Amino acid sequence: MSATADFGRLAAAAQACTLCAGADGRRRVLSEANGPLDSPLLFVAEAPGRDGADRTGVPLYGDRTGDNYARLLAVLGWRREQVFITNAVLCNPRGPDGRNRPPKVGEQRNCAPFLRATIDVVNPRYVVSLGRVALEALGGIEAHGLELRRDVGRRAAWYGRALVPLYHPSPRVLASHRDMAAQEGDYRRLAAYLCADGVYPPGETS
Ligand code: SF4
Repeated sequence: MSATADFGRLAAAAQACTLCAGADGRRRVLSEANGPLDSPLLFVAEAPGRDGADRTGVPLYGDRTGDNYARLLAVLGWRREQVFITNAVLCNPRGPDGRNRPPKVGEQRNCAPFLRATIDVVNPRYVVSLGRVALEALGGIEAHGLELRRDVGRRAAWYGRALVPLYHPSPRVLASHRDMAAQEGDYRRLAAYLCADGVYPPGETS
């Protein structure tokens, strides 16, 4: 069975999913807009943002977080259309005030099978988690023993591939946890790993 067919079924299942009560009316952000299925590099962020992926259908795109991510991808030397991006939860979590809120543990648990299946279908050589929630979600698939603050930018063997934990590119995280200069350094380190391992964008050999 082809990855395209498997992904089509997975995306259709996500579109039909009603497991989380708070997801009524939210977009299920899993489609061909997430990236190429043959990418060797898969990013996992936290959740679609209200002004980003929930509006555009493209993960990490359309808001200030997306702008920051684009800047960091440029440091990495990869283009958006060369990486696959998904989230720990596929639907935008919002509080009673209508603003983004972190996904609840139950929502992460509900959505974990979609995350695992997405990684299985894309089968990337590198998985990069963006933020604590994403790193924890990946630990639910297979234990990794990583802790973001201690292990940021370190490469670990995980689930038959490499896992690199990085911080989330949201303005809040940049302002309070890891600023743009530090995150750019993290992406340069990631670029060095990819180069050393001969991991190149789809269709490129060097
Ligand atoms: S967040 Fe995931 S599990 Fe919850 S409704 Fe959306 S697709 Fe389903």
